[in-house]
Amino acid sequence: MPEGHTIHRLARDLNRDFRGVSLTTTSPQGRFDDGAYELDGQKLVRAEALGKHLFLNFSFAQVHIHLGLFGKFRRQKAPADPPGENKRLRLAGPEVVWDLSGPTVCAIINPEEFDAIAKRIGPDPLRKDADPTRFVARAAKSPTPIGGLLLNQAAIAGVGNVYRAEFCFLAGVNPLTPAKKLADETAQQLWDLSVDHLTEGVRLNRIVTRDPDEVGVARGRIKKGDRLYVYKRAGQPCRRCQTPIKRDEIANRKIWFCPSCQPA
Ligand SMILES: [Zn+2]
Repeated sequence: MPEGHTIHRLARDLNRDFRGVSLTTTSPQGRFDDGAYELDGQKLVRAEALGKHLFLNFSFAQVHIHLGLFGKFRRQKAPADPPGENKRLRLAGPEVVWDLSGPTVCAIINPEEFDAIAKRIGPDPLRKDADPTRFVARAAKSPTPIGGLLLNQAAIAGVGNVYRAEFCFLAGVNPLTPAKKLADETAQQLWDLSVDHLTEGVRLNRIVTRDPDEVGVARGRIKKGDRLYVYKRAGQPCRRCQTPIKRDEIANRKIWFCPSCQPA
């Protein structure tokens, strides 16, 4: 599943291509025919991300998109290939065409529905208006393992399975630790890590948590197998202490950690 940096990056790229542009909109698959008909010819005022949710604000309508596990956006220069049958929405400008396929949600919403969604999403480290004290206060009360709380979109928005494992490693926290046992400073540190790393994720359009000084090259040039500390590295030596990385399961998702750098 895409993590928050992917959605913020999409918003940024869609704004770059389409902000202020009148779009031709279609639903090649047919499942968003009414919506595409309503949007057709409207200008994109602004694309905006809130955690893993994407909102396209048009002149007279707002679209809510959640990619879920399988949703994808694909960009092409115009003239674009004929859309396949699985495209839920095609956004076509004079120079660029974006196709959306496989989203969990693609719907026109009204302002009340937007408010309801915004209210149930936790603070988003990629937004300037985010309030980190909401995350710290929630952690202080939660008996959930911190590795699980980091995946709860109502606690902190945009962190997914890769980042949650990496942030626990970088903070030296065992992911099975109940969140309320952590010092406020540690919860704040996890928040700060998420701000820094998700921001880098938007810039690079990929997840790289390794310290570039350790690898000896700029963060954007770190090779695929060297970008992460613990995620999907079960049995391999910890990059800092050589202890074999362990795998566990929290919130029905696999998680990886170093038993020595992240003691129970
Ligand atoms: Zn270690």
